[in-house]
Amino acid sequence: MAILVVVEGKQKGGQTLSPVNFAVINAVQKLSQPVHAIVVGGRAADCATQLSTIKGVDQVFYAETPSDHWQVPEQLAVFLKDFIDTRDYSHIVAAANFVGKNLIPRLAALLGSEPVSEVINIIDGETFERLSYAGRLVETWVVKQEHQLLTVKHSHFSSDYQRQPPVSVVKLDIFVNQPEVRCAQWLKNIDSEDRADLSTAKIIVAAGAGIATKDEFEHLIKPLAKALNAGIGGSRIAVDKGYCGSGGLIGQTGKSVAPALYIAIGISGANQHLAGMQASKYVVAINNDAQAPFFQHADYGLVADAKAVVPALIDAHVAIVGVGGLGCPVSTYLAGAGIGKLTLIDHDSVSLTNLHRQVLFTESDIGKPKACYRSA
Ligand SMILES: Cc1cc2nc3c(=O)[nH]c(=O)nc-3n(C[C@H](O)[C@H](O)[C@H](O)COP(=O)(O)OP(=O)(O)OC[C@H]3O[C@@H](n4cnc5c(N)ncnc54)[C@H](O)[C@@H]3O)c2cc1C
Repeated sequence: MAILVVVEGKQKGGQTLSPVNFAVINAVQKLSQPVHAIVVGGRAADCATQLSTIKGVDQVFYAETPSDHWQVPEQLAVFLKDFIDTRDYSHIVAAANFVGKNLIPRLAALLGSEPVSEVINIIDGETFERLSYAGRLVETWVVKQEHQLLTVKHSHFSSDYQRQPPVSVVKLDIFVNQPEVRCAQWLKNIDSEDRADLSTAKIIVAAGAGIATKDEFEHLIKPLAKALNAGIGGSRIAVDKGYCGSGGLIGQTGKSVAPALYIAIGISGANQHLAGMQASKYVVAINNDAQAPFFQHADYGLVADAKAVVPALIDAHVAIVGVGGLGCPVSTYLAGAGIGKLTLIDHDSVSLTNLHRQVLFTESDIGKPKACYRSA
């Protein structure tokens, strides 16, 4: 029996397949079964061609839709059920993102199966580890059923991939939502700004309630993200305040991300937020409260007012960009802030492998920081 990976197609022109899909393909390799991928969407043929060359994929199916056609999950689930009914799949797997979370439970209901969500480890064909209680508890589920339906917490798996000679690609009938079933209607993409995709961003700047106003968000967080070529995310409160769209929510009820560098600014560190960013490689927390829980989860912490430190971060980065890359220490004094000297060495968005040596908060010779530490 084979495994079916439901792949999310491209949303915008020019984008390549999201690495989220590669993480799902990697996650199911443990089962040592043939892996089929299916993609449905406006650019499905293009995606299918790419998928066919990804090592670990044995066959690809695709169904085109009319351009700009949003696949209503209720109807896509029916389409996939009909597809699955005619074939022999033991596992149907998708990423635990907006698309997968919307689709897999519906598909499971149609197939009479119980879905297992947010899987972080596939032990064998019927044993899965998943997170619960906002990532504080790892549950092991043993599920015996004909079809295992899983959403995979993609941030827990590598999204690296290797190429292979193309495998077979099969075109299916076109998928069109039935007009009489209008469960939901696509109005517009409100998060249309041209900024790095959170699922692929190497750096994420995340804002919390410590960013007091939308104006501060515009003048602190956005320029910092731009300087670092970073994606922008936020806590629940940042999203509720309208700083970023719901697509930017990071945490239990939002996105799970795994950047090389996560900069949390004015976020307290509630478990529900940590659940979405704990796979980040390096974490910098900036908070004016030395007791903020986020500091316990950060590789680097700076107890500082965001309004004082973020402009310096922006300047520091711009200076590094200005001198052109590696091996160029840059010191920036946080004038007037009284929180010390910030030294950013050799910090660009590409070279992040030795970040613990590249980002360093040091005490100032012009003023003492309230607190400043660097974890081992
Ligand atoms: C079922 C459930 C699901 C949830 N899902 C999510 C989720 O997916 N994602 C999520 O984020 N939350 C989620 N929450 C909400 C979560 O519990 C927290 O309420 C939320 O994360 C807090 O956001 P915050 O850290 O921005 O705000 P706060 O907790 O208010 O923290 C603000 C921080 O900013 C600091 N600060 C204030 N001023 C400054 C300044 N000038 N400079 C620097 N720092 C400053 C403060 O010291 C404080 O630590 C969920 C809650 C529930 C119950």
